[in-house]
Amino acid sequence: MSYFLIAQLDYIFFIYGLSFILLSGICAIMYRRDDKTSLPWHLLGLFGLSHGFNEWLDMLALSLGDSPLFTNIRIAIMALSFIFLLEFGRRGYCLFSNKYLSRWIYLPMAACVLVGFSYGTAETNAIIRYCFCLTGGSLAAWVLIRKAGNISPNISLYGAGIAMALYALAAGAVVPAAGFFPASVMNHNTFLAATGMPIQLIRAILAVICTCFVLNHHNSSIKIQLSLADDGLFFKPLWTRAMLLAATLLLSGWIAAIWFSSSMMQETESNILLQARYAAAAINTGRIQQISGPSSSEANSNYQRIREQLTAFLSLNNRLHLFQLFTMHEGKVYNTADSAPNGSSHHAVTGSLVASPAPELLEVFASARECLVKPHKGIHGMFVSGLTPVMVTDKPNPIAVLGVEIDAADWKHQEAHYRLLTIITTLVFSIATIGFFVILQRMMESTKLLEASRRKLAEAQLQRQHELEELNCTLEEEVEARTAKLTEINIELQKHIAEQTRTEKLLVEKNVELQHFAYIASHDLQEPLRTITSFIQLLAKRYQGKLDKDADDFIGFVTDGAKRMQTLINDLLAYSRVTSKAKPFTTVDLSRIYECALANLKHAISENDALITADSLPQVAGDETQLLQLIQNLLGNAIKFRSPGEQAVIHIGCRDEGDCWEFSVKDNGIGIAPQFHERIFEVFQRLHNREQYAGTGIGLAICKKIVERHGGILRVESEAGNGSNFVFQIRKEQVSPGVAA
Ligand code: ADP
Repeated sequence: MSYFLIAQLDYIFFIYGLSFILLSGICAIMYRRDDKTSLPWHLLGLFGLSHGFNEWLDMLALSLGDSPLFTNIRIAIMALSFIFLLEFGRRGYCLFSNKYLSRWIYLPMAACVLVGFSYGTAETNAIIRYCFCLTGGSLAAWVLIRKAGNISPNISLYGAGIAMALYALAAGAVVPAAGFFPASVMNHNTFLAATGMPIQLIRAILAVICTCFVLNHHNSSIKIQLSLADDGLFFKPLWTRAMLLAATLLLSGWIAAIWFSSSMMQETESNILLQARYAAAAINTGRIQQISGPSSSEANSNYQRIREQLTAFLSLNNRLHLFQLFTMHEGKVYNTADSAPNGSSHHAVTGSLVASPAPELLEVFASARECLVKPHKGIHGMFVSGLTPVMVTDKPNPIAVLGVEIDAADWKHQEAHYRLLTIITTLVFSIATIGFFVILQRMMESTKLLEASRRKLAEAQLQRQHELEELNCTLEEEVEARTAKLTEINIELQKHIAEQTRTEKLLVEKNVELQHFAYIASHDLQEPLRTITSFIQLLAKRYQGKLDKDADDFIGFVTDGAKRMQTLINDLLAYSRVTSKAKPFTTVDLSRIYECALANLKHAISENDALITADSLPQVAGDETQLLQLIQNLLGNAIKFRSPGEQAVIHIGCRDEGDCWEFSVKDNGIGIAPQFHERIFEVFQRLHNREQYAGTGIGLAICKKIVERHGGILRVESEAGNGSNFVFQIRKEQVSPGVAA
């Protein structure tokens, strides 16, 4: 069993290396994909890459031969790979234990390796494994197990951690045999002797297991990344198939390696026998018989001829090591001739006895059947021999046996070459298969990713639509409610407007009626009043001073009352005439009106020494008489209500306000307190008694009415004691408001 397994070491190295190279690929993907603060996957990947490569170099050394330089290169690469592993473990330890493990730990280790280096290759190899592999592997295992505990129970990482721990033991504790303890006790050889299997097989199995677990972890993390929680078996069929295919491929490769190398070796074997057969057929049997047995002498011409022939055969095929001719005499086997030059270590003296002939050689003499002796120990090393009998027609037994020898190492290398050829073919197929599955997985990932994002988009759209519908519903309800309310308000408003219109109409009618009444009343009252006044005047003329003093006073009161009543009725008549006797609008030059007013007020102006100025006044559309009355009234008031002991200074201002003119009559008189600003425009409202200032209180009411008829508003800006400013507007357009009858 152990012989068989050792013969398969090259294939074991191949699988060992392949699994670590795969591990490096997976780690590279995880490093790119994972959160970089998670684990230093790139270091584990670098370990996998360098160590896998190292195993393949070991395989090449086994198949193609080794050299001290090659051995040293491999040891250096192995050391580098274990340093990556240790660095992975160190950084992971710092990450999970919250303790800092310094890089200085490399220093004592490197010193140990240097000491080992001075002893020899095997010692260096062993110390590197003890220092870097055992420590690095154990730390890496701890890190993987800690990480597994961190992300929910993660079976894959637990598995990978345990496999890594065992690998650390297999690769770091069982080392090549070296001259110091424990390497002298626990090493590759003692392990092989104790278990019957090479430690490399165990390491390869652990490497495969570790890689499978890491791959599974990677696939689970993709599932999480792709949110495939409910689609957990997504990659399972793919990877089950991939695993099955890979296992089949590797198994087939292994069987092919055995089969191909053995069939090729069979050909080599038959080739050796063929060479022996050709030589046997070519040699003259008569000459053989002449030199047969112990009596043969080197001086014999037959011997020399046969030797020449054997040497010639050897020179034809440089892969062959030696041609030998054996003869049997009285049951003993004698060296008769060979192709080795005289004096060479391989040369046997003719006629010398073969001390312990190989059983196969005796068998050929006995059975007259050719045979091949697989690697066997000769006097000068390990060889593979092809033995063929030399027959003559009249004898049943061979008169001699011709042997062809080939170096066993050469033989083994040939076999290794054939196996290597198969391994390389398997490697190409494996890479193609892995590539195929990686591409397939990537395609499936992208499809899933696309599906997931589509699903999310659809869900989001649905949600938005739902929200929109809800919003729409609310909005519609709100609009309905508002519309209903608005309709209600509208109906109410319409009712209100109708009522208002009715009231306004009624008011206008009443107003007209009232104005008419006022006009009629004041007009009609004038007549009896005039009668009363004239009779009173007559009474006063005739009886003044003839009656007693009281009668004189009474006559005086009645005369005054009648006069006042006359004034009031006149004023009332003037007020009602603003609308009842209004004239249609014409173009009125206000500067002329202003001059006219000044002329009318000339006595008052000169009496009070008033100073009146005006801006340049425009032409407007209006009732000339009323506008004169307006200006005259305002100027008259300004003079009348001047500040005592001060000269009255009055100014008429004019400003263009777009569609109308705004006029102001400003004085420096006694002013009006703000609370009376409205009241003064009402009929018969006065702020002073007749003794202080003469008047009836109708002047401003008439002014207001005139301004309103001309499309403006009359207002006052004033404070008590600070003068007054009466402001009013007159529209520019010639729109006549019509004239009342
Ligand atoms: P009357 O001049 O006959 O009193 P008005 O209607 O012209 O009546 O004026 C009403 C009141 O407004 C006046 O009694 C006076 O108190 C006040 N008034 C009018 N014009 C002025 C003014 N320029 N300065 C101060 N007070 C004024």
